[in-house]
Amino acid sequence: MPSLKAPSDRVTTFVVSLVVLLAVMLPATSFAQQLNVTCDAGRAFGYLEQVCRIGPRISGSDGMLKQQQLIIEHFQKFGCEIRAQSFDAAHPVNGQPVRMTNLIVSWNPRAKDRVLLCCHYDTRPYPDRDFFRPRGTFIGANDGGSGVALFMELAHHLRQIQPTYGVDFVFFDGEELVYSDRDKYFLGSEYFATWYRDHPPEYRYVCGVLLDMVGGRRLKLYQERNSVKLAREVTQSVWDTAKRMRIREFIDRVKHEVRDDHLPLNQIARIPTCDLIDFDYSAWHTTKDLPSACSGESLATVGNVLLQWLTEVRIGE
Ligand SMILES: [Zn+2]
Repeated sequence: MPSLKAPSDRVTTFVVSLVVLLAVMLPATSFAQQLNVTCDAGRAFGYLEQVCRIGPRISGSDGMLKQQQLIIEHFQKFGCEIRAQSFDAAHPVNGQPVRMTNLIVSWNPRAKDRVLLCCHYDTRPYPDRDFFRPRGTFIGANDGGSGVALFMELAHHLRQIQPTYGVDFVFFDGEELVYSDRDKYFLGSEYFATWYRDHPPEYRYVCGVLLDMVGGRRLKLYQERNSVKLAREVTQSVWDTAKRMRIREFIDRVKHEVRDDHLPLNQIARIPTCDLIDFDYSAWHTTKDLPSACSGESLATVGNVLLQWLTEVRIGE
């Protein structure tokens, strides 16, 4: 019955068109190879504990010096190039100079196009949101410690992947040497951004990702409003990677608006930089910001997304 032939032809044409259409619709990046490299949650958590055992790491304190030593020794073992960028800032309470040091750890330092992965590594002088002990000891496991621990863990994997760009880990000092609302935040990142703008190096930062509070037990990373406004492409690219990896801790929605170290990077250095920050962390600025409120799995999750993202990111192409 010839009448049957026509529909079956139509079905074939439809199927073929569908296949062609799907192939066109799928973004090229969905074919990016899934890395066979995974962060070690236990080891990452061990680094977090090690950093927290130092105690408070306030800018200019002995704890900060010990932490610098720990970081430098750690990354030297991996054969990285490490630079220190130091300057003095006036202490907000007594006006005395405080030595500030940003640390820059470079992977493949010869690459001219680079990605900036950064975090602050100083801790706030007081846990001033703590209802019972606003003048207690602030350890800053998540707020200050998590970025450091994560970068220490990433050091084990950077040589096993092929990032699109050269990679720098930058540890900012003086993010929150603040005793009152009037005190200035972001001293280290502002200095770094101004130096980059006024003394352009031979390389350029294509984009940046700031990590702040990425180790909380119940990690939730929403897109942050200033990141979307100032660095939409970078922000979307990170969450796209997480989505393809089916990482449910990255939620593809804007929630908080946060002033953080990414502002000077975007506004002064013009490096499009997004902030990965879990702003729902309940121990924020309290005495409870301890390793027990954090988890190695959260650190490893963020680390795995970053490793994958580093191999597939292409900004402005
Ligand atoms: Zn803080």
